Amino acid sequence: MTSYKELGLVNTREMFAKAVAGGYAIPAFNFNTLEQMQAIVQAAVETKSPVIMQVSKGARNYANGTILRYMAQGAVEYAKELGCKNPQIVLHLDHGDSFELCKDCIDNGFSSVMFDGSALPYEENIRITKQVVEYAHAHDVTVEAELGVLAGVEDEVSSAVSHYTKPEEVVDFSTRSGCDSLAISIGTSHGAYKFTPEQCTRDPKTGRLVPPPLAFDILHEIEKKLPGFPIVLHGSSSVPQEEVDTINAHGGKLPDAVGIPEEQLREASKSAVCKINIDSDSRLAMTAAIRKHFDEKPGDFDPRQYLKPARENMKKMYIHKIVEVLGSNDKL
Ligand SMILES: [Zn+2]
Repeated sequence: MTSYKELGLVNTREMFAKAVAGGYAIPAFNFNTLEQMQAIVQAAVETKSPVIMQVSKGARNYANGTILRYMAQGAVEYAKELGCKNPQIVLHLDHGDSFELCKDCIDNGFSSVMFDGSALPYEENIRITKQVVEYAHAHDVTVEAELGVLAGVEDEVSSAVSHYTKPEEVVDFSTRSGCDSLAISIGTSHGAYKFTPEQCTRDPKTGRLVPPPLAFDILHEIEKKLPGFPIVLHGSSSVPQEEVDTINAHGGKLPDAVGIPEEQLREASKSAVCKINIDSDSRLAMTAAIRKHFDEKPGDFDPRQYLKPARENMKKMYIHKIVEVLGSNDKL
């Protein structure tokens, strides 16, 4: 048993309370490589932002759960070395699909876990979320639950269609499950293809897809029913078109990749939405930089030569999100 407190990590309780009261959102960046971790920590330190480093089941399979835990511990020490006296870093399990997986993470240094029972029948979702909450709270670990289903594909999480969260269920669900935060479905989606061209309109000037707007009416109804309760948005990458263009210009093939416009995420950050999940944008920033590098310098074969610009590009993206979209800068 390793408590996250020994690793210098924090849970989300105080962080979320401040974010809801302050009208900003905490960035939740997925990571599974050293370069992503370094870029996340550098961005958080430079902007004085709290940060959630999250790990999916797929990331645990790819990078090994033990290694990721030591990387999170390393992230805390690295932040201090970069001059941050009091780093606020959460290690979070993204989309835990069983009590056993959540327990294993809690026993191994995670400070926050998500149990995603959104595909289960309502009562079953409450039952297992409650089981996770009881174990987690005994170890001062916070729990994110999910109601409503997001569309899209990301690691092992996939669904063809989305079902918006039903506002009439949120009070009953959060009270009976005891969860600390709630992921809702209001039209965000996983992956780099969040909407099909049929779901979008096309900007006649640029030819780019314009996605349908998020269901802010549902978000506001949920906020009214659960005043001050921390709300989470998954699948909230913006899929920056300049990164997609760079990828496509250097041998990639991502036609019609589309994300959530940043203005909408900016608006959501000012509400009870206090955690915004961003994964695809990091993948795109990394891939764009690497493709460009390989194209321009075909003789390079030292991984540091192409991973360094990849790391720089991710860091730039993380800083942009923190400062220009979520507003979590200068909060340490
Ligand atoms: Zn998700």
